[in-house]
Amino acid sequence: MPELPEVETVCRGLAPHLEGRRLVRVEQRRPNLRTPFPPRFCERLTGRVVTSVRRRAKYILMHLDDGGVLIAHLGMSGRMIIAPERPDAFDKHDHVVFETDAGTIVTFNDARRFGLMDLTVADALGDHPMLRNLGPEPLGNEFSGPDLARRLAGKITPIKAALLDQSIVAGLGNIYVSEALYRSGILPTRTAASLTAGEVDRLAVAVREVLERAIAAGGSSLRDYRQASGELGYFQHQFAVYDREGEGCPDCDCDRARTGGVQRIVQSGRSTFFCAARQR
Ligand SMILES: [Zn+2]
Repeated sequence: MPELPEVETVCRGLAPHLEGRRLVRVEQRRPNLRTPFPPRFCERLTGRVVTSVRRRAKYILMHLDDGGVLIAHLGMSGRMIIAPERPDAFDKHDHVVFETDAGTIVTFNDARRFGLMDLTVADALGDHPMLRNLGPEPLGNEFSGPDLARRLAGKITPIKAALLDQSIVAGLGNIYVSEALYRSGILPTRTAASLTAGEVDRLAVAVREVLERAIAAGGSSLRDYRQASGELGYFQHQFAVYDREGEGCPDCDCDRARTGGVQRIVQSGRSTFFCAARQR
């Protein structure tokens, strides 16, 4: 599933192909994704100039010259494919096709169809149901230790669950929550309210660092994408604890210390990975 760094990479990959470009043709190849397309979807986009491609949480926001905004979510398996010209045939999972005045074809492909697209206007963006309850961007200036501490105060949920709560911090998913808790040395089962101010400060820094490192990895994969398939959405990335049950973690001898290495537990139905030796 694409997480925040993947979505950021997709936005950065799309921007040079879409910003300042007019959409001369938009095709919707089925009536719905996870939700129905908004009425007159293609008609409202056709002829518009894309002024910017930005990310908010895990949403791609394509701003248009008439004040409209296309909101896109990649869901579980969505990807954007950039091609210099129209292909001979489309894949059955190619659901939306954008053609720019430069002839570039941007195709939204989504095999599992958990993705979605909606249209709104910039003035109402903050009130959109998918965006209005989002907390601060973890890479934005608003996000800091003291701000996070205020949002966690009094919460008796495990810190893992609190970090997945999009109203506390926007866009964090299962992978980077495990990674940030590992990096800050905090056990995922601790209640949010039990963290000290120092621990929350460390955590806020760790959240930024794990995301920035992943985005940097995505940036290098982006250079490969341009040379290869033009496909945006996924990249290989080395995690410290995520999906590494039983292996040693990078920063200690936990595998050799007979603690069994990286542990996996299930919290709220989802896997959490941590090092019992390093996280307290
Ligand atoms: Zn360890």
